[in-house]
Amino acid sequence: MPLARTADLVSAAYRAGSGLLAFNVITLESAEAIVAGAETANRPVILQISENAVKFHNGRLAPIAAAATAVAATAAVPVSVHLDHVEDEQLLHAGADNGVSSAMFDASKLEYDLNVAATKAAAKWAHDRGMFLEAELGEVGGKDGAHAPGVRTDPAEAAAFVAATGVDALAVAVGSSHAMSEPTATLDFDLICRLRSVVPVPLVLHGSSGVADDDLRKAVGAGITKINVGTLLNVHFTGAVREFLAADDSVTDPRKYLAPARNAIAGAVVAVLGAIG
Ligand SMILES: [Zn+2]
Repeated sequence: MPLARTADLVSAAYRAGSGLLAFNVITLESAEAIVAGAETANRPVILQISENAVKFHNGRLAPIAAAATAVAATAAVPVSVHLDHVEDEQLLHAGADNGVSSAMFDASKLEYDLNVAATKAAAKWAHDRGMFLEAELGEVGGKDGAHAPGVRTDPAEAAAFVAATGVDALAVAVGSSHAMSEPTATLDFDLICRLRSVVPVPLVLHGSSGVADDDLRKAVGAGITKINVGTLLNVHFTGAVREFLAADDSVTDPRKYLAPARNAIAGAVVAVLGAIG
């Protein structure tokens, strides 16, 4: 199936009132595993590459974007490629040259007025090139430890922010935190409903690895469209590697432990896709 565009996947989910999973890609194996899981579940997904993942690849987007777009373009289900938590405008610009159809532009560390100005400029740049732009208001707890998990997005401010910036989707702070390895977050479903009623674009939940399966389904019912999952895949990948190496301390071929690790990610993807219904 040809490489899908995030705008098409998000708008189809938004119209249907269903959830769309976006999974973080770190290596070729994670892209392969996410797509294998999506194919098993027969659901579209977004492969997302974070600015931190690009830093891991020595600051070069092209190799990992080429891997992700090639895996997406040979998938049996629709798969798009997205840039996550982009603070560097140069990376946003590089995305457009590397098959990436959307980005989350993160100016949430700035004061409100500066966040609006930077996000508006990024949205205009993206729209001029046919890209879909997600932004964030009310920093989602946990990212870089910059905010307490208690932070919440104000509905009136969110509506004003979307109107002022022209973004296509909004990441909101409703109780989840990044990098949680256990599903212990408490989501504010009432706040999601209130945001959904006043914000005219799809809502995005970050930090979803910390949310229990039932609560992910309820979040979709309350009005979340795009659900970002990263840490959960790391837990499964690293767990499988650890288990393999604990049982066999003489192995040298990395394929021996990367294969079960890749299968572990695929299994986690199938489980999350099944959980949201
Ligand atoms: Zn995030």
